[in-house]
Amino acid sequence: MKLSLIIPIYNEEESVDILYNEIKEALKGLALDYEIIAVNDGSRDKSIDVLKRIAQSDIDFKVISFRRNYGQTAAISAGIDFSQGEIIIPLDADLQNDPADIKKLISKLNEGFDVVSGWRKNRQDTFDRRLPSQIANWLISRITGVNLHDYGCTLKAYRKEIIKGIRFYGEMHRFMPAYVVWQGGKVAEIEVNHRERKYGKAKYGLTRTFRVILDLMTVKFLMAYLTKPMHFFGRMGLILLLFGFLSGIGSLIAKFIYGISFILTPLPLLTVFLTIIGFQFILMGLLAEILIRIYYESGGKTAYNIKEKINL
Ligand code: UDP
Ligand code: MG
Repeated sequence: MKLSLIIPIYNEEESVDILYNEIKEALKGLALDYEIIAVNDGSRDKSIDVLKRIAQSDIDFKVISFRRNYGQTAAISAGIDFSQGEIIIPLDADLQNDPADIKKLISKLNEGFDVVSGWRKNRQDTFDRRLPSQIANWLISRITGVNLHDYGCTLKAYRKEIIKGIRFYGEMHRFMPAYVVWQGGKVAEIEVNHRERKYGKAKYGLTRTFRVILDLMTVKFLMAYLTKPMHFFGRMGLILLLFGFLSGIGSLIAKFIYGISFILTPLPLLTVFLTIIGFQFILMGLLAEILIRIYYESGGKTAYNIKEKINL
């Protein structure tokens, strides 16, 4: 059994060495083969130098370096793409996640789960970061139907086989547990340690909540209708056309039976509106079908651009 740790890194030069030592310490007791995949997400500080130095002395420490900043989700995706382990565990580079929790995650996974999600019960962030996150967690739980306290925690353990086909972008790495459940997998949540950020800066503010909510709508829609957008748009289109037809009949009745002029009722205008919008919806459905064909036939890859790879 092999373990792949995946670390997204954006300007974390002070933390990387300490994190590496903590990971080594945490993995000592585990009889597991492992690799550490550090993904440098276009850092502007000296993170890459630190990573290169560690990679030189440790063959199991692998580095992927992006040409520019693509975001945490892209970094984690790239790490998963190049990983060889059967168990995947992403963790933040800023020392907020505690490598000592890796052991707990793996033993929970071995109880027969496909994902074990970390819950930062005593989250060491300020209130203005915790509140939007609580609202987001509530929303995600409601909409996905998968109840977790803490979707945003990077520290999670996954079985590779269940996530290998999934492509993620935007802020979507946090929805992975929901995907797994939708695919018939089993999810557990355990409390993990969370520490204050000591070095560097948090990369996100309030705007992330909005991005998360928009991505949530996309995820929900894609999940529900990806294979059948025509059923969604087409149904709306047909309903609108039906109402258009009825209001058309209505305006004809008004005119020819009751002798009310076309310009005295809103019905003719309504008919035109409903018919146009109805056709528009059907066209949207067809367009979505075409896009999906293109997406599938071209392999649908997450966008990232790798400058170099080390030990890989
Ligand atoms: N990160 C990244 N690319 C980015 C932003 C962040 O790889 O564009 C990494 C960052 O270096 C850290 C992790 O993602 O290891 C989480 O970032 P941060 O601590 O800023 O977020 P938070 O703790 O608020 O979720
Ligand atoms: Mg952090």
